[in-house]
Amino acid sequence: MKSKVYLVGAGPGDAGLLTLRGAELLQRADVVIYDALANPELLRLAPASAEFISRGKNMAMPQAEITALIIARAQAGKTVVRLKGGDPFVFGRGGEEAEALAAEKIPFEIVPGVSSITAVPNYAGIPLTHRSHCSSFTVFTGHSDSADEATALRYDQIAKIPGTKVVLMGTEQLEDWTAALVKHGMSPQTPIAIIHRGTTGRQKTVAGTLTTIAALATKEKIVPPALTIIGDVVKLRGKLNWFENRPLFGQRIVITRRSEQAGSFAKKLAELGADVLAVPTIKITTPTQKDAIIDCLLELNSYDWLVFTSANGVTAFFDIFFRRFQDLRDLGGARIAAVGPATAAKLRELHLQVDVQPEEFTAKKIVGAFKKYQDIENVKMCLLRAEVANRELPEALQEEGAIVDDIAIYKTIPETEDHTGASERLLESGADWVTFTSSSTVEHFHARFDLPKLVKQFPQMKLASIGPETSKTIEALGLKPAFEAKEHTTDGLIAGLLKAAK
Ligand code: SAH
Repeated sequence: MKSKVYLVGAGPGDAGLLTLRGAELLQRADVVIYDALANPELLRLAPASAEFISRGKNMAMPQAEITALIIARAQAGKTVVRLKGGDPFVFGRGGEEAEALAAEKIPFEIVPGVSSITAVPNYAGIPLTHRSHCSSFTVFTGHSDSADEATALRYDQIAKIPGTKVVLMGTEQLEDWTAALVKHGMSPQTPIAIIHRGTTGRQKTVAGTLTTIAALATKEKIVPPALTIIGDVVKLRGKLNWFENRPLFGQRIVITRRSEQAGSFAKKLAELGADVLAVPTIKITTPTQKDAIIDCLLELNSYDWLVFTSANGVTAFFDIFFRRFQDLRDLGGARIAAVGPATAAKLRELHLQVDVQPEEFTAKKIVGAFKKYQDIENVKMCLLRAEVANRELPEALQEEGAIVDDIAIYKTIPETEDHTGASERLLESGADWVTFTSSSTVEHFHARFDLPKLVKQFPQMKLASIGPETSKTIEALGLKPAFEAKEHTTDGLIAGLLKAAK
């Protein structure tokens, strides 16, 4: 297949506003070239092996260079996704990039995106049109450095158009163009709102009139990217401000668990309005010793039990299993034990029922659960665990006569990359909360960021602990969690955060 370039609209910021077509193309990208306005969380959709090229803050990479890069990668036979904020054909020079591709005869496809023009007003509770207020809207840029007569803005004409007005890139010259509109006849009392980073957890809105907004925006430190809405519809915000009225709105909350596990926790927090920073501190890789795994796979039929002690173990085992076998029946007839509800849930996703499910992680409880099921003397067990798991469990099982193979099926290593820029943001501006979901998240977070130092640097930052073990690890660093979850789950953590926000 010939390579192709896809100019994909990333939407306005909220990752959920990417189109299905955009997601599909990211999943098979060889190269992703993205702008600062595109939400970097979307990069998770692309294969980890893809090449990720950021244009940098404030469009650090010049347009000519980025166009040349797109062309070079396409000519090298790669599938290139060029990810652009909002819609590719709205003020993003997408038209110019497509022209360059056409000139080089490189096949391309353009995937529309949800533009900030419509999305940001939605999230600010301001309908662009409303039967009681207006029947049209006009969009223009507030950044006119154009000496070119043909494309220069005509404020005398714009001022006369009825209906709502939307201004992109209007922050830097806000004072000039609002004054120009008043000079050309718009009422100084016209309502206006400026919205910074709309649709994201960092959304910030300032509202005023055409004459007051410039000073208000300076006072509230509104910087780009921001979109401005002018017209009577701005007043509806009082009734319709669903996004900013959510209970955790405005709170920056750090999630420290591994990205694959962070999903539902992050989603719930974001839906409650939080600005979620996913800063995973560990990741999972293949274990150092692979021979033991191969032996174990060859002998699967000889085991009476397969024992999983974590959801990670389940994922790692079946990744390896399905690489070798095409048929689930090759798993053999062993019974399956899963320690903890998350582990059992992961197995059920594969339609595998669990025969024994000890609720607690202590070796004693696990042995007890097996013995309730059967006498384990001479019973052959395969433990599928992390590389550094302690020896207590296999020893306790052996004491009862079981024949145990303790297989390291995965290894956890520190996460050092920062594709999404989340750890950079954390180091730059701190957070309101850091949530810890296990002792190991505390340890790894501390190893990466020096927790006491970070708390000292950002005194408003509070720590939330999922349970007593995690709290102990926090306290060992000379710190105190602001609260410990009553129920030791992520939902328990969310309940605590909501209570604190009241
Ligand atoms: N193609 C983009 C626009 C690119 S021009 C689109 O369709 O949305 C960049 C400008 O878009 C910014 O200066 C700002 O005015 C606006 N913008 C983009 N995303 C925004 C957001 N999340 N919040 C507020 N304004 C945004």
